[in-house]
Amino acid sequence: VKEKILISACLMGFRVRYNGSNKALVLDTLDRWQRENRLVVHCPELAAGLATPRLPAEIIGGSGEDVLAGRAMIVESDGSDVTQPYLLGAWLALKTAQDAGCRFALLSDGSPTCGSQRIYDGSFSGQQHPGAGVAATLLRQHGITVFAEHQAGELVSHLEQLADQRIAIRLK
Ligand code: SF4
Repeated sequence: VKEKILISACLMGFRVRYNGSNKALVLDTLDRWQRENRLVVHCPELAAGLATPRLPAEIIGGSGEDVLAGRAMIVESDGSDVTQPYLLGAWLALKTAQDAGCRFALLSDGSPTCGSQRIYDGSFSGQQHPGAGVAATLLRQHGITVFAEHQAGELVSHLEQLADQRIAIRLK
């Protein structure tokens, strides 16, 4: 069985970020995984009905975990509360991953949705702090291992180890 991987659409070159840009990740292994039909390309914010371009949004008062627990909110740069569509995006990402049987995700860091290592601090001043967005957090809460784009090499190594273990078990 070849593991399927949920991947942020912006990392695959789709121009779906808030400002209409992408964050295309150039990696030979990604090309191979795509040919093997192992990538589940998804943008939670677009899935939730948000438009591109859209205003930048940040988590105020905590991280994705706090938003999911109702202790923090997500606002756009004009102060609009967009917590509900962002939460919807997180749940749609989880459903997409589960429906496809993904146990791993490779997500774009820094986003209030997909961030898994760092997120912006809610001041809209370009400052980041350690934390995760709502989709990355929800995926982790349901047993899906999330990697940021700068950890793509670790994901590749991890999946290669898993494949080697399966081969070893079959050969026993
Ligand atoms: Fe990329 Fe995720 Fe933002 Fe969509 S929600 S643009 S996939 S970081």
